[in-house]
Amino acid sequence: MQMNDHKSHVIDDLIAMLGEKAVLRNIDDTESYLSDWHGRFHGAAHAVVLPESTSQVSAIMAYAAERNIVVVPQGGNTGFMGGATPDESGDTILLSLRRMNKVRDFDAKNMSMTVEAGCILQNIQDIAEDSGLYFPLNLAAKGSCTIGGNLGTNAGGLNVVRYGTTRALTLGLEVVLMGGEVLDMLSGLRKDNTGYNLKDLFIGSEGTLGVITAATMRLFPKPIAVSTAFAEVRDVDAAVELLHRAQAASGGMVEAFELIPADIMHVLFEAFPNIQHPLATIGEMNVLIEIGSTNPADNEVDGNGSAPIRRIMETILGSAFEDELVIDATIASGDAQRDALWDVRESSPESHKRAGKVVRSDVALTQSSLAPFYADMVAGIKEIDPNIRICGYGHIGDGNLHFNLIQAAGGDPDFEAKTPKMLKLLYDTVTKYDGSISAEHGIGQVKREQLAQIKAPAILHTMRAIKGALDPKNLMNPGKVI
Ligand SMILES: Cc1cc2nc3c(=O)[nH]c(=O)nc-3n(C[C@H](O)[C@H](O)[C@H](O)COP(=O)(O)OP(=O)(O)OC[C@H]3O[C@@H](n4cnc5c(N)ncnc54)[C@H](O)[C@@H]3O)c2cc1C
Repeated sequence: MQMNDHKSHVIDDLIAMLGEKAVLRNIDDTESYLSDWHGRFHGAAHAVVLPESTSQVSAIMAYAAERNIVVVPQGGNTGFMGGATPDESGDTILLSLRRMNKVRDFDAKNMSMTVEAGCILQNIQDIAEDSGLYFPLNLAAKGSCTIGGNLGTNAGGLNVVRYGTTRALTLGLEVVLMGGEVLDMLSGLRKDNTGYNLKDLFIGSEGTLGVITAATMRLFPKPIAVSTAFAEVRDVDAAVELLHRAQAASGGMVEAFELIPADIMHVLFEAFPNIQHPLATIGEMNVLIEIGSTNPADNEVDGNGSAPIRRIMETILGSAFEDELVIDATIASGDAQRDALWDVRESSPESHKRAGKVVRSDVALTQSSLAPFYADMVAGIKEIDPNIRICGYGHIGDGNLHFNLIQAAGGDPDFEAKTPKMLKLLYDTVTKYDGSISAEHGIGQVKREQLAQIKAPAILHTMRAIKGALDPKNLMNPGKVI
């Protein structure tokens, strides 16, 4: 059979299965699904299919297995590793979960909700809030990313320091395997030691083991008393010390703790001149810190003229100031100021996109090796080129840095030539400190080769054995992860 015949048969079969409207094939309709968020990867597919139910996903997977057709699952397509972009062969079904966006169950007593994979993260947050509860997974892509993609990548985000990654928020999962079998592991149980924990295998597997169709997620009491501050700190070591003091002084109430070096601010203000400087001058190293309490009394202005939550923050920063960990700081008074501080952090990924040539990274270190790692990286980059902008920033509260390296202001025609040296320095330094090359973004197609280099043969062998057992024909998102 000719390729075009094969393609039209596949499309006809998919239409028979899902209906005409659920099978996109015109370039105008499919374009946004076939390139990644950064515009780095472009692929092709027979069609983009938009099933509405688990049984439809199951039918697609049975069909794909029978015909040896690759399936690439996709949620909001905001991933950074090219994991949701197919290759250019075109012999692929791009399976978008976006139309599977129903809430199947809301159990306020159990503090859990069961949602379909295509639910947008922001909508899940809003639904929880409408019932006075809180879903703490939070990332700047929350308006577009889906819970299925968050599970696929085991997303981290801004509140991991208190609530853990997506895995820690997940109680149950529904997964469709290649071949169509449905694993119903949906459950609101917080404890269940009945054999291997299969759900954890699929979380973070980036669509290479099966399609996640629904999940039961944990909910929490909502922090209603919140204090947010922006502080210039002496250095990275001082930032880590400040984190520990804040945890101790607040009784573990740190909701977010983000590192923001000077170059992040320079790149940010170039892209977004209207964003306000939080402090009078741009300090070399800064942190954004937020603490939150679920006790309404912590929000009430009392006889001392301020709310207890603010006084906790003042105590944290005041003692750190006396000990010269903190150089300058501001505490938000009111939602508008809080939003303005968060704007600095949350607009950073977009400002990097606009800055042109960037070497991106997503590394994890232990708290004790963050400062020496940072110092080695700065020294190494300055040797390569002192004009490279060193934007090592992000979720330092979880030991996670996005150590991005951005071309000099005004451009650098030789930046690509320096990239291999920068990457070698990065990976060597991560290895030196026993860190991880992927803290929260995953492996996708970007870091597949590095993964093969850094993981021990026995670990790779075990990963391949699991992949082979669940997907023997290698049809589930091939070319990603391993
Ligand atoms: C501005 C911005 C800020 C970001 N900030 C953060 C951050 O702080 N922390 C963080 O962790 N990430 C961050 N990201 C990256 C991204 O948002 C996350 O990786 C997110 O979890 C991806 O969700 P998605 O629905 O867009 O998934 P997609 O990009 O569609 O897919 C990502 C991966 O998951 C797989 N997948 C998707 N859906 C399913 C499914 N239903 N079943 C099985 N596999 C599936 C795909 O095949 C792919 O491998 C950010 C992205 C942007 C654009």
